[in-house]
Amino acid sequence: MKKSIISILLIGAFVISMPFIFNKSVHVEEPHKLDIDGNFILNEWVPSRVGEGPDWNYNLKPVKISDRVWCYFGAMEMPTKENAGNMSNSCYIKGDTQWITWDTGPSYIFAKQAYAEMKKIKDMPVKTVIISHEHDDHWLGNNYYKEVHGAKIIGAASINENYFGPRHIEGKDYPGMQTRMIKALYQNATRDTVLALTDEAYEETKEFEISGVKMEYVKVGYAHSEEDWFLYLPDDKVVLAADVVMNGRVTSNRDGLVIGQINAINAIRARDWDYLVPGHGFITDKTAADESIKYFALLTERVLDKMEDGIIADFITKEVTLDEYREKDLYYILSPQNVFRSYEELEMYDEDDLIDYEAIKEKKAEAKKAAEVEAAKKAEEAKKVAEEEATKIAEEEATEIAEEVVAKKAKSKIEVVEIPETKVPVVPAVPNVPEI
Ligand SMILES: [Zn+2]
Repeated sequence: MKKSIISILLIGAFVISMPFIFNKSVHVEEPHKLDIDGNFILNEWVPSRVGEGPDWNYNLKPVKISDRVWCYFGAMEMPTKENAGNMSNSCYIKGDTQWITWDTGPSYIFAKQAYAEMKKIKDMPVKTVIISHEHDDHWLGNNYYKEVHGAKIIGAASINENYFGPRHIEGKDYPGMQTRMIKALYQNATRDTVLALTDEAYEETKEFEISGVKMEYVKVGYAHSEEDWFLYLPDDKVVLAADVVMNGRVTSNRDGLVIGQINAINAIRARDWDYLVPGHGFITDKTAADESIKYFALLTERVLDKMEDGIIADFITKEVTLDEYREKDLYYILSPQNVFRSYEELEMYDEDDLIDYEAIKEKKAEAKKAAEVEAAKKAEEAKKVAEEEATKIAEEEATEIAEEVVAKKAKSKIEVVEIPETKVPVVPAVPNVPEI
């Protein structure tokens, strides 16, 4: 009896709760302000969020990497309230009259405090900000530089597309994504942070010089995220790699492609550098990229091997464990998901997708040599033509001069002949005849 009453009550409760369980629609005044997962777009709310207490103190200390480059190094963690999003690396490049910023950190307050330290080294404004990729731990400080310094922001086109929207997914349009930081951090860290999107995006790798610093902003495409770039300073022999290279921790490939990652790292290896600053991690010497190189090589090789053995996706994270990285930070959180994601990608693996940068380098060198030979040949020909021309002109001039001389001489001869002094004989006067 008791059981049946309980059953009836349970059924009743279930029926009453049905609309809440099955009806996932959310009533909002502006339904278009939901993202693809039905979450509110929080960036709309940020300006009005006022936190209690003083600004979060990030306690930042810049580390000098080379003559003109300083960087801030973040914790080897995911973004948390305790680290206030300070878990990625960002850098400052010292130009002649301005600082150039590479990535701007997780918040307005972070950027403001980072600049305050740089100002002590040299009091110059930040007029240019360059961003590596769309992940929000790398660019939420943008609006500080834009509002306070009037800086121009150069960055991946995917930032504007994915955060400003509309995002085009399978024929439908969705508003921009919300950022993790704004959801995760205390308000005294996110205060004043609003999304400042990029002002300028390039299609391809671009070389430029800003305030006396030569730079190559290299596009590596879909690698760690949808659109990754790194910055190469050829005169300083520095690579600012951002998240295509990490060390001391396991990388996050949640939005990336293993093959794209390998290509990106090979593009970095093809350049001549002494220092490399990773997006996460503290090693900046010639070994800085080694862990990433090995990680992606092992990941690809082992997942492909297991696929060949017939291991299905469900068991791949048990079969490929990458034990060499067990002691690295974030191994337990990130490594299994990297393995699983790479399985999905490598099901369509094609060796031709790997870019052979060494071959490209050789080809470029050959093309350069051929061009030089061609240019030398052309210069030789041009010289010959010029010489011939000069000889011809000289000859013509000589002939002209000779002709002129002859003409002059002839003229002077004629003058002598033509103008003889003719003497008219004086006729004697008729004598006066005397008158008779
Ligand atoms: Zn990232």
